[in-house]
Amino acid sequence: MATEICTSCGKSTPSYDTICLSTESSLQTLCMRCYNKIISEAMGEDYHHMDFEPVVLKDSEDKEHKFHFSHKLLGHIQTIESFELVNDRQGGYEFSVIGDPDEDLFELFTKLYEKMKRVLCKKHISWSKETDSWVISEEDIVRGQITCEYDSSDFDRTPMVIIDGKEISWDDFGQALMSYEGFNFKMQIFDRSEEMD
Ligand SMILES: [Zn+2]
Repeated sequence: MATEICTSCGKSTPSYDTICLSTESSLQTLCMRCYNKIISEAMGEDYHHMDFEPVVLKDSEDKEHKFHFSHKLLGHIQTIESFELVNDRQGGYEFSVIGDPDEDLFELFTKLYEKMKRVLCKKHISWSKETDSWVISEEDIVRGQITCEYDSSDFDRTPMVIIDGKEISWDDFGQALMSYEGFNFKMQIFDRSEEMD
């Protein structure tokens, strides 16, 4: 797993749980614990750190997914994100909740956890060996996340979607839609913390 050294406490920390802060004179890499402490102090509040151990949940196909967590204070809000790691990068399922800065952290975590369980039991697509393509489930609804794949230079991005925790190219997603050729569709964009009913 890729790690970074926190400029403040000197601890080796998984890259996904760090943040880069640039000031006029330096570029700092901080672990989220140190970052949250700085934000709390700036707001004149005590900071009580809570470690979130990785959690394994099963999806609708009984496949296990290991989720990591990151808690971030942003002054007027706080967020907890959960995500899987694919080749050391965030990939697969990703979830997020937003709360007030004084909201109980455990309650916020519970909201996130319940959301994860609700989404993991849904199935929107399945692979068809007959057509050699993805097939959209009978409800004719697809919920997913817009993402991209970086090339080796990290500058060019190829559009991708994540559906049921699977990274699927726009081309493959387009093939899945071909069984609906001639039909109309409606696309709605949601913030990453919103529930998609
Ligand atoms: Zn630190």
